[in-house]
Amino acid sequence: MRLTVVGSSDAFHSGARRHASYHLAGLGDGEWMVDFGATSLLGLRKLALDPAALSTIALTHLHGDHFAGLPFLFLDAMFKSNRTAPLTVIGPPGTEARVGTLFRCLYPNLASQTPTFPVRFVELSPGGRREVDGVVVEAFAAEHMTPPDQALCLRLTRNETSYAFSGDTELCDGLYAAASGAKLLVLDCTGYETWVGRHCTWQELSGQLASFGDTALVLSHLGAEMRAKLPQPVAGTTLTYAEDGLTIDA
Ligand SMILES: [Zn+2]
Ligand SMILES: [Zn+2]
Repeated sequence: MRLTVVGSSDAFHSGARRHASYHLAGLGDGEWMVDFGATSLLGLRKLALDPAALSTIALTHLHGDHFAGLPFLFLDAMFKSNRTAPLTVIGPPGTEARVGTLFRCLYPNLASQTPTFPVRFVELSPGGRREVDGVVVEAFAAEHMTPPDQALCLRLTRNETSYAFSGDTELCDGLYAAASGAKLLVLDCTGYETWVGRHCTWQELSGQLASFGDTALVLSHLGAEMRAKLPQPVAGTTLTYAEDGLTIDA
């Protein structure tokens, strides 16, 4: 599986990076993305990755920096790539309604047209599990949003190899469960030491790195203070900092 970091920033484009999102090739039968923020289509273009080749988008949660790029992907599908192949969008409860509302808000005429390609929504609650495109998708509760909104940590498994994505979250049981035994975990590290809302900070994480065992860690969603300081890797741990355009074969 090749992971390409399409974006590595928080919601504020800290460090002049794109919203955190990830392209996965060689996981499913088609190409996947985890999260699709407002700058994700820009990122795909910049990295010469083909939006039309995407089969599945898995959303960790419904904040704009994680899903607001979808209407632009739909536009590309309708007018640039003339897509006819189905697209699957996985996300927490309410995903279909929120994506529809966003599309209608931005492009009301287009949203009411008959789509040239089918969009299939798969909504997962914490504890949910579904096989999509040959990949087992498992959802765990993240600690980030106020009910009824629910953020997810996602675990994607194919051929007994798992990859985990924290989305935005504090350290919590759902995060550890998603990461358990995973080959790789892309982990929210928005803050360095200053509180940055319901996210992880380096100050909290640095003492907990060993609890992720052999899982390779990619710290992402980096805020301004974290980006400016990027601590030296901790001895005995496998740790990488996400950067726009970084590729990892795992
Ligand atoms: Zn975010
Ligand atoms: Zn968020």
